[in-house]
Formats: sequence, structure tokens, C-alpha cells
Amino acid sequence: MWFFRSPQIVYGDDAISYLTELKGRKALLVTDENLFRLGFADKVKELLEEAGMETRIFSEVEPEPSLETVQKGAKFALEFKPDWIVGLGGGSCLDAAKAIWVLYENPEMDPRGINPFEEFRLREKARLIAIPTTSGTGAETTWAVVLTDREEGRKLALGSPLNTPDIAIVDPELVMKLPPPLTASTGMDALCHAIEGFTSIWHNDFCDGLCLQAIKLVFEYLPRAYRYGEEDREARVKMHNAAAIAGLGFINSMAALAHGLGHSLGAVFHIPHGRAVGLALPYTIEYCANGGGTRYREIARFLDIPFEDEHDAAFKLAEKVRELARQVDEPVSIAEAGVNSEKFKAALGKLVENANMDACTATSVRIPSDEEMEKLFRYAYEGRRVDF
Ligand SMILES: [Zn+2]
Repeated sequence: MWFFRSPQIVYGDDAISYLTELKGRKALLVTDENLFRLGFADKVKELLEEAGMETRIFSEVEPEPSLETVQKGAKFALEFKPDWIVGLGGGSCLDAAKAIWVLYENPEMDPRGINPFEEFRLREKARLIAIPTTSGTGAETTWAVVLTDREEGRKLALGSPLNTPDIAIVDPELVMKLPPPLTASTGMDALCHAIEGFTSIWHNDFCDGLCLQAIKLVFEYLPRAYRYGEEDREARVKMHNAAAIAGLGFINSMAALAHGLGHSLGAVFHIPHGRAVGLALPYTIEYCANGGGTRYREIARFLDIPFEDEHDAAFKLAEKVRELARQVDEPVSIAEAGVNSEKFKAALGKLVENANMDACTATSVRIPSDEEMEKLFRYAYEGRRVDF
């Protein structure tokens, strides 16, 4: 038995004003300092107040939020007793909002226990709204929660289908002024979600169309959104939709190996998530294709990439991913991401260990041995085509 999970999605121009139609007494807005400073949080607060809700802001979410931060946010919620939790921001804020929501309803719970195998209470005290201010993670439509265990230097891929947001507000106005580097790295994340959602071992009929459409949108509109920003409104709108669609596509199948490697790179070298998974993606496509039995051919066909056979299709797709990365000035190797070779060599053992333990690695069509994983990281460091 399988389920397709989705929030109610409110999208398009002025979607944000839907907040004024909510019914409730109190709302807790979970965001970061930057969005607070830019006035985004106050704007959302105003709309919630227009709906008649007393609203407080927890703006302490840091990039790659820690276990401690979500525990602190949950404490804040327990004192304030909101009936809506509203996550506003990029993936970090939205993931933190999900975790804070779960811990608010289950104060005795350890955040590490937020996983699909755990039963916990939810929606007895509050419901969750997710409002993305980047076009990439798709956190608004997914139940994934990525937190950082600072003591262990490790990212924890957490979350449960139970904590899928109730409502996602996909309003393009919130991403019009997204800085180009953030547009690029988060856009690469959306591409990864869509390609991995289509090719993971749990791919399915319900997700295939969503993933293919998101792949197409990212290839077409990411370079424009990166280059022209708010001047190209259409590109912004399409990228914002693509990220939410890719989120639905991959969370109802699964991400795979590029996320396994990317989470590991992100935790060890603090490379932003989208950049880390984006640079890992072409290498993992090549590695999987070398094992055969993949679905890259179908993606190539959908994108009108001419190819000879499955292997050729995969390698051409990997090359197209690298081309896209270059167009938006994203690195295509770990070295290009600014990691020097001493640091890389010193961290290699940890990189391999993290990637092999990552939940996303388990849903890859081909799973590397320890030796292969090390080799894969070396190739991704040097920018070599994968030949094993
Ligand atoms: Zn991702």
C-alpha cells in the first residue's frame, strides 16, 4: 500500500493573501533573521493579524538548522500555544517549522525520532503552513526535515509523512528579488529532486509526470531566472512552480544518490545544499548508468536529447546538467566548490561514511560499496567522467 501526500497548494499572483482567510486564534511564524530584517516576516504577520490572529515571530533559524534550534523553537511554541505554525523562508526555515510543530505537539520527543517509522501526535494543537522564499528545496510540499547534529558533524535526514504541511503558499512575489547565486544553487536542487524522483527505486506513476515536467521547467527557466531576476517574471513564476512540483515528485518516490553525496558534502564542508547536490548529480547519473537498468533514457527522450542507447542517454543528460550548472555559475566539481585537496583528503573517510549512512543512498538504483563511494568522491573532486 502506497500513499501520495500533498499539502493544499495555493499558488500564483497574490497567493499570500490567502492568509487573511484563515481561521484561528494564534499563529507562530518561524523564520530567519534575514527575512525578518528584510520585512518579509512583518508583511506575513500583518496578513495573519488581518485574519484576527495574535502572531509572534521566532526568527532564530540558522542555515542548516541544528537540533538545539528546533528544540528552542518548540519551547517558544509551548509557551505561546499557537493553533497555526507558519514556516516562512528557504528549506532551512521550512524544515525547522516542521520539526518545531512536531515537538510542540510531542514535547517529550527527541527530534531524532521524527522519522517515518515513529507514530506521533499531530494536528491536535496546530496545523502547518509553508511559505517558500526560494525556488528550490520544495520543502513546502514535502515532509522531509533535514537537521544538523553539530556534535557529530552530520546531517540528519528526518521527517515523516505525518508532518507534510497542510497548506503550501507558492507566491512568486516572494522570490522576485532572490539574489542570483541563491537562484542558481536552489534551482539546481529542484533539478536534482526531479531527476532523482524519476529514477529512484521507488519511482511510480503518480510522480513520473510531475518529475518530468519539473525537469523541463528547470532546464528552460533557471538560466533566465538567474540572468534576468525580477525582469523576467515568467521565469521566476515557472521556477517557483517547478520547485514545488519537484518537491511533490520526489517526496512521493524518493531522492537518491546525489542527495546521499550532497548531504555528506554539505555537512563536512558547509557547501549549500543545492550546490552540493547539484555538483554531485552528474557523477551519480554516470555511476548509476554504468550499472544499467536506469530510466535516464526516458528523461532524455522527454527533453529531445538525441542518443544512441541507455548509457549514451545518461551521459548526455549528465553533460546537460553540467552545462546548466556552468550557465548559472555553479561549480561542477568539489574542487571548483572551493575545497582544497588537503582538506578533501583529510575528510574523505568521513565523507564516505556519511554518504553510505544517508537514507537517500538506499533508494538509488545502484548502491556503491565503500571503495566505490570513495572513488566517486575522488572523481567528483577532480571533475572526471565516471568510468566504473
Ligand atoms: Zn534537495
